[in-house]
Amino acid sequence: MARSPRSIYIFIGPPGSGKGSVSSLCIERYGWVQLSTGNLCRMHIANQTELGKQIDFLIKSGKLVADSYIDSMVAQWLDEVLALDVSAFVLDGYPRTIAQAESFEYLVQKKQEQEPLSVEIVRFSATDECVLERILGRIVCQNKECQSVYSSGPLGIVPKAVAVCDKCESPLGSRSDDNKNTAIERLRAYREHEDKLLSFYHSRGYQVSECYVDKPLEAVFEDFTTLVDVKVNG
Ligand code: ADP
Repeated sequence: MARSPRSIYIFIGPPGSGKGSVSSLCIERYGWVQLSTGNLCRMHIANQTELGKQIDFLIKSGKLVADSYIDSMVAQWLDEVLALDVSAFVLDGYPRTIAQAESFEYLVQKKQEQEPLSVEIVRFSATDECVLERILGRIVCQNKECQSVYSSGPLGIVPKAVAVCDKCESPLGSRSDDNKNTAIERLRAYREHEDKLLSFYHSRGYQVSECYVDKPLEAVFEDFTTLVDVKVNG
């Protein structure tokens, strides 16, 4: 029987809406592969690469990194992961602008010359109040290779031991951009592009699946798996 096309899930949602947490569950439970462009940017900063030095200030101030840098990171990632034997891929935090969406569309079209790929758009909906509260209660593994995310509030993942990562046992701490002023700027940057991005995908004929995130992570994940059921089982 012919295998169904592999899926690329594009997660669109404000900072703090749980895109990364849902991605982690997809990796853990389905063996999917995720790219968080934010994690990759932070890895460059921690490793003090040339790119890392150039984007450090932007990230700390909550501004977007230039499309060209992000597009080439994603192109390299896609080259690598398509060679893996996995059934689906998650893009967390990309595309964030119309230019990125167009660039990714072109990239996927090229890849589709080799294999059929299905692109699915999932939007995580949350109010500004809800996500700001979550961002300010977020704790993150300080190991740059791990960057697992936990919550000090009741709706997210609470670490088993205080301030220690469940996965790699490194210390937990705050992200440098998880303070109130930067979070407000990140939210502004997201909202500036959100409608245009959604209109872009609607105009291309994509159905956008809506995930409402004002509930515990397990419930959000259950909603997500219901929305993408065919692909999980297919
Ligand atoms: P959040 O979505 O919670 O703000 P991320 O970890 O996804 O956190 O991103 C952190 C920062 O990385 C962003 O504020 C931005 O500076 C940069 N970044 C991540 N993805 C992109 C992207 N697709 N385009 C431009 N900048 C990005």
